[in-house]
Amino acid sequence: YKLPVVRNEPNLHYTVNSAERAALKEALAELEAAAPFEVPAFVGGKEVQLGGERTVQPMPHNHQKALATFATSTPELTSEAIEHALAAQKEWEQMPFNDRAAIFLRAADLVSGKYRAKICAATMLGQGKNVWQAEIDAAAELADFFRFGASQCEQLYAQQPTENSPGVWNRSEYRPLEGFVFAVTPFNFTAISGNLVGAPALTGNVLVWKPSPTATYSSWLVLQILLEAGLPKNVIQFLPCPNGEATISLVDRVLEHRMFAGLHFTGSTHVFRQLWKKIGNNVDKYLSYPRIVGETGGKNFQLVHPSADVRAAAIGALRGAFEYQGQKCSALSRLYVPKSLEEEFFKVLVEEVEKISVGSVTEFEHFMGPVISQQSYDKVLSYVEKAKAAGGKVLTGGVGDNSKGFFVKPTVIKTQDPLSPTMVDEIFGPVLTAYVYDDAKFEETCKLIDETTTYALTGCIWSNDRAATVKASALLRHSAGNFYINDKSTGAVVGQQPFGGARGSGTNDKAGSLNLFARFCQIRSIKETF
Ligand code: GLU
Repeated sequence: YKLPVVRNEPNLHYTVNSAERAALKEALAELEAAAPFEVPAFVGGKEVQLGGERTVQPMPHNHQKALATFATSTPELTSEAIEHALAAQKEWEQMPFNDRAAIFLRAADLVSGKYRAKICAATMLGQGKNVWQAEIDAAAELADFFRFGASQCEQLYAQQPTENSPGVWNRSEYRPLEGFVFAVTPFNFTAISGNLVGAPALTGNVLVWKPSPTATYSSWLVLQILLEAGLPKNVIQFLPCPNGEATISLVDRVLEHRMFAGLHFTGSTHVFRQLWKKIGNNVDKYLSYPRIVGETGGKNFQLVHPSADVRAAAIGALRGAFEYQGQKCSALSRLYVPKSLEEEFFKVLVEEVEKISVGSVTEFEHFMGPVISQQSYDKVLSYVEKAKAAGGKVLTGGVGDNSKGFFVKPTVIKTQDPLSPTMVDEIFGPVLTAYVYDDAKFEETCKLIDETTTYALTGCIWSNDRAATVKASALLRHSAGNFYINDKSTGAVVGQQPFGGARGSGTNDKAGSLNLFARFCQIRSIKETF
């Protein structure tokens, strides 16, 4: 059968007095009243509440309140989970693709319909997103990943050998990996969690899933939605775990298993490299070479050409750097402004940044909410100090208030050193550092950006000079996996801008595209001679 044609889920706007706003307010109130949720592990098709100390997932805008708590998944439970996943493998991979796809199409409708308010509310309360950021993530992008995933998988499976000699029929059979996939998911996008488990599952794989401790509750909801949509209970095993030693024990247990077949990861570059090393050390133990698919850090740039529309470029920088408090992997963090536009550009930028309100996500009026944790709050402010110590000038922001939530003011720093700490290190918070370049040195600046790009996730150029845009695009060819011309560095849309970078930013397997699905398949070539 052909699957239905899929379209991107339209965003709701939550205007005052709208039905969606009322529904979301109600969902927020219900979750707040019922919190903290005791999130279990899910192993062998059953909820498992282990004993022992429970970890709290606080609400970052009001950190004394817990959204959820969870117990530590032990290595023993991990081993059990792996065996349950493996036991489910055959039945799941033999289910006709149309039936697997239908589960995900239904899950997408549950996300965009019945559960829209709840999953947005969970993402707001647990991950500190404001209403619009929650909507583009937990409602629209999550539904898109499931719908487009089904469709992209269908397109992949349709790729068949084009030549057949007389009396021969050649075909490609798309088998899942032999073993289980380990999904390690981030806090910053509920949709990414959905895709990290969804893409392997759509291709017939079984999974062990370790959700982020700071997104445990929304991850749990994603699993509930998939189960309600008809996902067989043993396809995904869910193992909440706090960071630190407990996670290391869990991961070690997973990565030493003979049937470990793939890693699907979004998170920090450091952790990804640790996992990769462990996989390398264990390679003799595995039945197959595992697929390693990861999206990691970013140090994303915006280059402003002297021909740019200054206001548009400044607003683009503001949105790229400060939406969701700079906690998107794609967030803008280094800005290159030509001397000729310096005065005007910074005037507009600082004026607009100073209009940004920072506050509770439940108030529906703030452009920015909290950063995710105390650790993140400390890191952001310590980088402001490092930037100052390196001669940087704070144009605005640079301060925080963590008395109730982890709030940091949007911060713009100007530096004369393109290698200063905030120009090169990933901060993952609302800090934008700008460097002013000499107009005559546009090409050199492109080269400088490229040479200082150890991460290569996203980047953008603002220019109304076609030749300059083409030149920059060529010089920055390897500096970003997602390159935007006259647009901000964030906001890739599933099916429209396949997302992912290279260098220290990941394996560039492009979430939201057919390429990703190929990574979770082992193709069997069949030649039949008549
Ligand atoms: N896909 C998102 C964007 O384009 C970012 C994803 C991430 O933070 O990992 O903004």
